[in-house]
Amino acid sequence: MSGVRVWRALVGIESAVVERAEYDEDEQAVVVHVRAGRRQRSRCGICRRRCRGYDQGEGRRRWRHLDAGALRVWLEADAPRVACREHGVVVAAVPWARHGAGHTRAFDDQTAWLVTQASKSTVSQLLRVAWRTVGAIVTRVAADAIAERDPLAGLSRIGIDEISYKKGQRYLTVVVDHDTRRLVWAAPGRDKATLGRFFDALGPDRCARITHVTADQAAWIAEVVAQRCPDAVQCADPYHLVAWVSDALDEVRRGVWNEVRRAGSKQTAARLKGARYALWKNPGDLTQRQRAKLAWIAAANKPLHRAWELKEAFRRVIAVKGAHGRHLLDDWLAWASRSKLRPFVVLARRIRAHRPAIDNMLAHGLSNGLIESTNTKIRLLIRMAFGFRDTDALIALAMLALGGYRPNLPGRTN
Ligand SMILES: [Zn+2]
Repeated sequence: MSGVRVWRALVGIESAVVERAEYDEDEQAVVVHVRAGRRQRSRCGICRRRCRGYDQGEGRRRWRHLDAGALRVWLEADAPRVACREHGVVVAAVPWARHGAGHTRAFDDQTAWLVTQASKSTVSQLLRVAWRTVGAIVTRVAADAIAERDPLAGLSRIGIDEISYKKGQRYLTVVVDHDTRRLVWAAPGRDKATLGRFFDALGPDRCARITHVTADQAAWIAEVVAQRCPDAVQCADPYHLVAWVSDALDEVRRGVWNEVRRAGSKQTAARLKGARYALWKNPGDLTQRQRAKLAWIAAANKPLHRAWELKEAFRRVIAVKGAHGRHLLDDWLAWASRSKLRPFVVLARRIRAHRPAIDNMLAHGLSNGLIESTNTKIRLLIRMAFGFRDTDALIALAMLALGGYRPNLPGRTN
């Protein structure tokens, strides 16, 4: 096998012609000189239509390719410009890279694949790329994949959520598909205009096919949904309801803690402060120490224990669906209203105000876990995307990881 043929196999790009390969001492890298195959030449970089040649552009260009062993590999080729009827004078398309990219398609895809399953430092070190560059790569890979398969196709039961980031300074509005369990849309902002853009993208025909919408009980979401999908059933989402109840419990705990502290009992105050997680967690997940703490609260602080019981009862009530669930919720609301715990009295009023959507939730039983798990995963991705250039890159990463758009590894079909 001649050197060129070995490199043709190594580079692995069918429509590229390998001319020669050389070792670049300065770069400590292999540079493979290539050109586009005859059928791939003189095409617009944007639309890939055949066009008239324009000029030689800025001469030779290099694209980072997958490593060969421990060595970096660059592809080098001419980068002439063409005159496209629609896009004007643009750099011609090359079969090995996306338009405007400094990395080959294979390098892009491998990066996008890896970033959905490894840590930031693993990706950066293994691939020897700056984190910002990874952001640019995931952005173009996701854009390509979304252009090929419309994430908004075939939606009928959707969930809408708002997720805060940058310490609650900024928000993302996200939409998930309850049937495929995928993330289908995300955009910065949390207001009517932002959500309106989702329904604009969906278009009136597909809006009419939406049957169920789950959301936290924010008025702005309910209003936009009622306007755009008037026939859809609006359901509360259990994840956010449980969060309301946890907030009420925390308010009771803080009240009790302040009282104890004012009364001068430092030790009790400290023990109460440390009980936060014992109160929050599901009983099944408690450690032995946390269980002991809970037992201490039951003996030492009746109101706080009552608040904890209310929270636990609420979790069980909303897991029961249908008419039985509604009756249990009636009982729970009566209990909360009589509890003499102000945060729960207020909460009961709030829940009553949202009763229609909550009854819909109990009647239609859309998955509890999807919104919660999407929310948790996006929070992790937000941390990961720190250092990317913009929110588009974060959203692209979320679509790759949670929208079913992760590319295959180069040269493999799955
Ligand atoms: Zn074009």
